[in-house]
Amino acid sequence: MTNTNKTISTHIPGFPRIGAARELKFALERNWRGELSDAELEDVGRDLRARHWALQRDAGLDFVTVGDFAFYDQVANHIQLLGCEPARYGFQPDQPQLSRYFTMARGRSGSADHDAGCGCGAHDTDALPAAAALEMTKWFDTNYHYLVPEFTPETAFTLACERLFDEVAEAQALGHAVKAALIGPLTFLWLGKTKTDGFDRLSLLDKLLPIYGQILDRLKAQGVQWVQIDEPILGLDLPAPWRSAFENSYWQLNQVGVPLLLATYFSPLEENLSLACRLPVAGLHVDGVRAPQELTSIADWLPVHKVLSVGIVDGRNIWRTDLDAALAVLQPIVDKRAGKLWLSSSCSLLHVPFTLAAETALDAETRSWLAFATEKLAELNTLKQALHADAGADTALATSRTAIASRRVSPRVHQQAVRDRLEHLPAGADQRRAHFAERQAAQRARFQLPNFPTTTIGSFPQTPAIRAARASFKRGDLSLTDYEAAMRAEIADAVQRQEALGLDVLVHGEAERNDMVEYFGEQLAGFAFTQHGWVQSYGSRCVKPPIIYGDVSRPQAMTVSWTVHAQSLTGKPMKGMLTGPITILQWSFVRDDQPRARTALQIALTIRDEVADLEQAGIGIIQIDEPAVREGLPLRRSRWTEYLDWATHAFRVSASAVGNATQIHTHMCYAEFNDILPQIAAMDADVITIETSRSDMELLNGFGQFRYPNEIGPGVYDIHSPRVPDQQEMVRLLHKASAVIPPANLWVNPDCGLKTRGWAETESALRNMVAAAHQLRAVY
Ligand code: GLN
Ligand code: ZN
Repeated sequence: MTNTNKTISTHIPGFPRIGAARELKFALERNWRGELSDAELEDVGRDLRARHWALQRDAGLDFVTVGDFAFYDQVANHIQLLGCEPARYGFQPDQPQLSRYFTMARGRSGSADHDAGCGCGAHDTDALPAAAALEMTKWFDTNYHYLVPEFTPETAFTLACERLFDEVAEAQALGHAVKAALIGPLTFLWLGKTKTDGFDRLSLLDKLLPIYGQILDRLKAQGVQWVQIDEPILGLDLPAPWRSAFENSYWQLNQVGVPLLLATYFSPLEENLSLACRLPVAGLHVDGVRAPQELTSIADWLPVHKVLSVGIVDGRNIWRTDLDAALAVLQPIVDKRAGKLWLSSSCSLLHVPFTLAAETALDAETRSWLAFATEKLAELNTLKQALHADAGADTALATSRTAIASRRVSPRVHQQAVRDRLEHLPAGADQRRAHFAERQAAQRARFQLPNFPTTTIGSFPQTPAIRAARASFKRGDLSLTDYEAAMRAEIADAVQRQEALGLDVLVHGEAERNDMVEYFGEQLAGFAFTQHGWVQSYGSRCVKPPIIYGDVSRPQAMTVSWTVHAQSLTGKPMKGMLTGPITILQWSFVRDDQPRARTALQIALTIRDEVADLEQAGIGIIQIDEPAVREGLPLRRSRWTEYLDWATHAFRVSASAVGNATQIHTHMCYAEFNDILPQIAAMDADVITIETSRSDMELLNGFGQFRYPNEIGPGVYDIHSPRVPDQQEMVRLLHKASAVIPPANLWVNPDCGLKTRGWAETESALRNMVAAAHQLRAVY
């Protein structure tokens, strides 16, 4: 018999909505193509919710979560729920809600779907400003992108959408105990942006709270058991007015009388810990994976009548939970929180793939170390049973123990040679042989490039022919020899076009690469790939991140033969193209049994070897892409230095094995560096190319003020749009750039890679770009 006094409940902050087989993605895309009616799309949504709730109930969770479903994005759902669709859309009252929703998400001009061309995804884009989609940006430090609410002093709120209440009713009709989930008012305002100078969006709070009050009233009337209110901003460095707004807000919301579970995740609460503990709510959820060090104080400080929900199962990663370790953490808390303890995943399971059951190709041992969303539900149940001393947990505990033990010692994970190399890394391994000035002189003497040299960022159009060849190779219809011949022909074509355009530094075009991380991960030891491990990135777009499970090494060269082939076709310098260690790390599921810094360094060493091999093969210019450096920044500013130290160290290790006359480039898909410019400079790339065209070069000013020492290629045109920029437009941008950066240090290139563009627009744009560079050369 369990002691009811110690009864423990289980729940999750949210579940992936895309579906086990990405049903939602395919339904959405058919709906957008006009092949599936809105009513049919709603059916797909209803069906997915029912299945996902059933999974939660069948796994023994005490509540199902309602409100985590969205056709595109949960923040966009709140924009409609709270009646604050931006006025700029000019929606008519009779326009169906779903069509307004997709207009905000995708813009109104037909081809306006967000373009994740560079892979970094955080781009707002549309040719028609009047109907541009809402901007997208990353949800905290995840790879999920939300649609950014827009606030003005005129923004008003009303309870404007029935969807949430309908979904609650749906779950209840299916017999579920319901916990409804909402994004909290302060986090909602924080996530939005304001385009009016000097306007503080926090001033909207007083207008917003009454609507939350109405929502809670409705949920209470529906008889939900709990309402989870997510306020992950409690894990950020909050300005004082935002911190102090919490107490009064929650005092008001708590008046409704429906039990509120305040949910925080992703980051330690630190100075907000006591605030979170004393807010007038019935329960607090905390992230026990990202901030285990705070659990004891929270268990002590949270008033005993409140529920403590401990996020003990990692919602951000795919590893099987070490259940014994989790139990050791939980046991002392059980005694302190008699009858008021819930177990949960650390955050919504949105950020992990759906189920391991579909992974039939993974080797059995690696597979035994993993747990995806569905398996994590089962882990919660096992933990609950174990804490209730229920023998039902024994088998699952034993299986878990075996898996954890095997992962700890498996030779798949631990390679002595990699460890030894890290251990004995010479002190100067992250330093180039000479200072930049000396290298610059050597490189100028070697390459004899004109002023304002022109280049591109790496990829050229991934044409239907290229995709078809790859698909047919993967199906086994095209032999390796034929596939490689086809790719070599694509490379030759790209080289010939670049020569015709008169570009100065050529690239091979990346035809052979599906994805800039997967391509390298597939060739490195220590990486595993799933068949169905999709995670929603935004809207209908999903990514399938590699899993870094073991020590990373490079069995053989990865890019040398392609690059050498490309170089053999031209007398111009051919730029080798690699993905950097931080980007590979950031866009993968990373092992949790050693610090990320160590994994980054292991990857860095493989890139270092590749760089050395390229140099050896006569490649004089090598680009190491690092578009993910900034997104790796910890949510708490106090942790930035530590991260930036190891991240820049890893980059430098990857780049520093070469001689002075070898030129290292790096590329990042943004230029918002003002607060980390010293570290960007410390990466010491000979040339950095960045995205600046959409800020009208404004973002370059920081580099100028900082006196950024090395060469820079500020992007002169936006590759996210098919529009062909004209020459004068680029000339104007280059003049602006020349006013802040010494012209002798400037390169001329697009914002990012061109893989999502077609050849016709690409060639026109580059022709104009080369002409613009010529015009500048005549002036400076
Ligand atoms: N070299 C890559 C490309 O051109 C860079 C992509 C990126 O910056 N995300 O596609
Ligand atoms: Zn880019």
